[in-house]
Amino acid sequence: MTIPHFERIALIGIGLIGSSIARDVKALGLAKEVVVSTRSEETLKRAKELELGSEYTVSAADAVKGADLVIVSVPVGASEAVAKQIASSLKPGAIVTDVGSTKASVIAQMAPHMPDNVHFIPGHPLAGTEKSGPDAGFVGLFRDRWCIFTPLPDTDPVALDKLKAFWMALGSRVDDMDPQHHDKVLAIVSHLPHIIAYNIVGTADDLETVTESEVIKYSASGFRDFTRLAASDPTMWRDICLHNKDAILEMLARFSEDLAYLQRAIRWGEGDKLFELFTRTRAVRRSIIQAGQDVDAPDFGRHALDVKK
Ligand code: NAP
Repeated sequence: MTIPHFERIALIGIGLIGSSIARDVKALGLAKEVVVSTRSEETLKRAKELELGSEYTVSAADAVKGADLVIVSVPVGASEAVAKQIASSLKPGAIVTDVGSTKASVIAQMAPHMPDNVHFIPGHPLAGTEKSGPDAGFVGLFRDRWCIFTPLPDTDPVALDKLKAFWMALGSRVDDMDPQHHDKVLAIVSHLPHIIAYNIVGTADDLETVTESEVIKYSASGFRDFTRLAASDPTMWRDICLHNKDAILEMLARFSEDLAYLQRAIRWGEGDKLFELFTRTRAVRRSIIQAGQDVDAPDFGRHALDVKK
């Protein structure tokens, strides 16, 4: 039998990420009790139907009472409101963590409200899909994916190790980073690709000379791969753009410069420049596969992921 890492876990937010954690905790027996909390009765009802926890409440304050691990999985823009709701109900010695896609902003929103006698350790699992809500989660979402922690200068190393052991039990690889550095890295590996996808799909949708039915009919030519990213949750991505503004704007500036270089090479027929870039980028894809962060399948391993569910 797996020894529970925690007696009582409170999950605040039970969408794709929260419900995937809940499913793993249940499957692996990592806690005796799991309290599920979400703001709407509708989502709470669904979480209950899916048997994601052992107790359910719409009150985040009630949910955290007696919990030794609290995981906040809400859009990053809601972090401060949640921190204020739970602050006075937290158990002394509890570990409070989050899964937000931006870190400096979440720390600025949550840390000032955290009592001195709890361990606030921000985290971010680099795992997800374009789906949202409690039905979207699945066992094994975090397997072989990185979970990055951005501990504060006074973070207790014992609490950090305990939290890392929990994520490692979910199959994650763990790493520490400075929050600003995390936000820059994520701006390039995640935020910029999503913004480009939203933009390209928006452009295609605006085109008058190409009909929407043609865009959909011939989408497998490349467009389709962008539409997956561009189908990601609008609330989550609005919040990411607003809460990682500086790093995103910096990466967008770099991107625009490089795009202008590409545009120029195409205009002047500089095939050698195009060939050099496309060869370099092909090698990046090979490195990602070698690092086990994707599979070499024409559908980017999406089929394998569906089968795993
Ligand atoms: P999700 O599926 O949309 O679920 C969001 C959860 O947060 C729901 O329980 C929702 O409650 C609740 N919520 C929404 N707005 C709220 C508000 N204003 N105040 C309090 N609660 C609110 O989202 P998710 O994909 O799990 O994402 C959760 C967090 O994980 C985000 O911070 C995101 O940046 C991060 N993250 C996401 C991914 C990804 O690929 N999706 C990957 C890594 C990290 P109701 O349904 O009851 O309204």
